[in-house]
Amino acid sequence: MSDCIFCKIINNKIQATIVHEDKQLVAFQDMNPQTPTHILIVPRKHIETLNDLTIKDDVLIGAMVRLAARIAADRGHNEKGYRTVFNCNSDGGQTVYHIHLHLLGGRVMGRFG
Ligand code: AMP
Ligand code: ZN
Repeated sequence: MSDCIFCKIINNKIQATIVHEDKQLVAFQDMNPQTPTHILIVPRKHIETLNDLTIKDDVLIGAMVRLAARIAADRGHNEKGYRTVFNCNSDGGQTVYHIHLHLLGGRVMGRFG
C-alpha cells in the first residue's frame, strides 16, 4: 500500500530503528515508546486490521507472537514479564492501519479497563 507508513518502513522509504527482519516480518522501535522496551512487530504483508485476517494468516500471526516472545527474552523480560497488544479500529486505539503487535516491557504495567 503506497500511502501506508508501515509499508514505507518495510520498503526502506522512511527510516526506523529496525531490530529484526526476516522473510515475513519486520520489527522496529516505536517512535513514541510507552515503556523502556516498545517494539512493533509488523508483517511484510499489508493487512489493515485484525478483522481482515483469514485462516491463511494463522501461521503469520503465530510467527508474530513467537517473535515478540523471542525479542522479549533477548531483552531479559521473559522472567518478569511483558505485554503484547493488537489494537483494532478506533475504539481499540488503532492509528496505523497495517496490523502490528506491540511488545511492551521494562516496567510494571497496570490493569486496563
Ligand atoms: P496503534 O495505535 O496500535 O495503531 O499503534 C501505532 C503505533 O505506531 C504508535 O504507538 C506509534 O507511536 C507508532 N508509529 C507511528 N508511526 C511510526 C513511525 N514512523 N516509526 C515508528 N513508530 C511509529
Ligand atoms: Zn502497509
